[in-house]
Amino acid sequence: ETFEDCNLGEIIRNNIVLSRYSKPTPVQKYAIPIVLAKRDLMACAQTGSGKTAAFLVPVLNRVYENGPEESANVAQSRQYGRRKQYPLALVLAPTRELAYQIFDEARKFAYRSRVRPCVVYGGADIGAQMRDLDRGCHLLVATPGRLVDMLERGKIGLEHCKFLCLDEADRMLDMGFEPQIRRIVEKDNMPPSGVRQTLMFSATFPKEIQMLARDFLDNYIFLAV
Ligand code: AMP
Repeated sequence: ETFEDCNLGEIIRNNIVLSRYSKPTPVQKYAIPIVLAKRDLMACAQTGSGKTAAFLVPVLNRVYENGPEESANVAQSRQYGRRKQYPLALVLAPTRELAYQIFDEARKFAYRSRVRPCVVYGGADIGAQMRDLDRGCHLLVATPGRLVDMLERGKIGLEHCKFLCLDEADRMLDMGFEPQIRRIVEKDNMPPSGVRQTLMFSATFPKEIQMLARDFLDNYIFLAV
């Protein structure tokens, strides 16, 4: 019933302590082992349930623990500063407020690691966001429209993206982002499901979300908290 039972690496354990999270919330308790076991996940969870850490903690832990291949990608994207960035993990969120909150939490969990989180969202200066990406981007939090813009400008490549998380998937569909999401996931050289690990979080589980889960997830575990 503690984060110590979750079999997490040292960096993430230290950062959880620094965040003053003493005990996992229910969604964290169930989701963290599923993600660490490399399974795809469809989770029904509300805002306030602790869902952000439920995906950030195990995804960052898997990036940290992934050894030489991933480290090489990390080193490479640093070295290639001012070029196209190839994030290892992508989180899609419906609004800039939510994207920023996820980014802020990712920064806490990435403290004293080599992993650099970035955030991009619409309605803000794209030049400043591109200059920030130039400094290296291993975990990208994005709203769908702005990410499509970055992909079309050749600023981001998703070829190395092994983790995909769709947060508040039902809200993204309500906001009309399905074409952008499908373009990002299906048409932009992202590793296919089964190669990448995919997580979906949604407050509700209507037909449209079930269809997205069927299309994007591979042999997934369904979790309702
Ligand atoms: P979320 O549902 O991810 O938006 O999280 C809601 C709030 O709960 C955020 O302010 C988090 O910082 C906080 N939180 C998440 N997990 C924990 C935890 N295990 N212990 C204490 N606070 C938490």
